[in-house]
Amino acid sequence: MTHRERLMKAVKGEWLDRPCSAFWGPHYNLEEANARDLAYATIANQQAYGWDFIKVMESGMYFPEAFGQDMPANITEDMQSWVNVEKFIINHGKDWLKLKPLQVKGNKIFERNVEVIKRVADHFQGDVPILPTVFSPVSMAGEMTGGFFDEAKIVSMIQYDTKEVEYGLSVIEETLVNLMNAYIDAGADGFFFGFQNGLNAKLGWDAFMEFEHAGSERVINAVKDRTWFNMAHLCNGRFDKEENTKFIEGCLDLPFDAFNYSNTWTEIMPSFTDIRKKTDKVLVGGIKHSAMPLGRISWNSPKDNDFCGKDREVIKTRLRERVDTAIEEAGNKLVIAGGCGCFEPHRFCVFDEVMEEVAEERAKMHRTEN
Ligand SMILES: [Zn+2]
Repeated sequence: MTHRERLMKAVKGEWLDRPCSAFWGPHYNLEEANARDLAYATIANQQAYGWDFIKVMESGMYFPEAFGQDMPANITEDMQSWVNVEKFIINHGKDWLKLKPLQVKGNKIFERNVEVIKRVADHFQGDVPILPTVFSPVSMAGEMTGGFFDEAKIVSMIQYDTKEVEYGLSVIEETLVNLMNAYIDAGADGFFFGFQNGLNAKLGWDAFMEFEHAGSERVINAVKDRTWFNMAHLCNGRFDKEENTKFIEGCLDLPFDAFNYSNTWTEIMPSFTDIRKKTDKVLVGGIKHSAMPLGRISWNSPKDNDFCGKDREVIKTRLRERVDTAIEEAGNKLVIAGGCGCFEPHRFCVFDEVMEEVAEERAKMHRTEN
């Protein structure tokens, strides 16, 4: 069975030889500036681990950069574009009015990222679903004003410069649809569509529905007939379970095929059992991932990262329990993954062993049933 066939079966809720799985990360901070470099790194990662889809790790800031936002060149592996913006492109309400929708053709940043998809798609020839990363319109508006560290700026602009922001969001939406169509032409199967749930909560319910929810719905509706696996990534949130649940549930009626969030952070997030009652779409998660920068496992403890610890058998038992729980709570419509980016290469072999055992048990059960 190819990765594509397996994921298609998961979308339909059919029985599988083993559950789908996909981890994504790291950020390719040194490769992301060049199409060939990023495609090479992406292909190498997929060849190493064999996930059931590829979430492409473009720079998290490429969309604002395409509009001309000043970004530094990353010169060390640790530099991440999204924390290093030199100058935000929108500083006052009236700045929104200077923006015009972008075409892909002629925009160096967009052309580069579309080329990455083309190269990866050409390599795998349809065997592996490819999901380029895009972010919701309000997330992008936030990244053009103050970024993650000053979300208050976009929240107050929406309140006080409403007309200007409305125009800006319409430019972002039109540009997103142009870009997503180009990604599809290059070989994308669908999208990893990022929401910042903490920002959504700061907007408040009414502004969330009017700007974030409605805008994302328009964007996904514009491409959904040309794609088959669009996944909403509902990133993080706040330390309030009730509030996080409200905004996760608020996204469930959007036209996505799958929803991903940190379901294992049980103190602050709803479980898959809770969310399964509200949606029959694919649920993506089940493994507790590190919330620290990717690859820094030594900063974590087993309490907040399932791959952590010195005893291989303990880690294996923990991973097996997580996989069983995810299957029990989400059913066949499941992709085992982290709640967000997760890159623990030294322990992926342990995860692989767990999945192999699950597959063997399923095959045995299948034989006795027939
Ligand atoms: Zn995330």
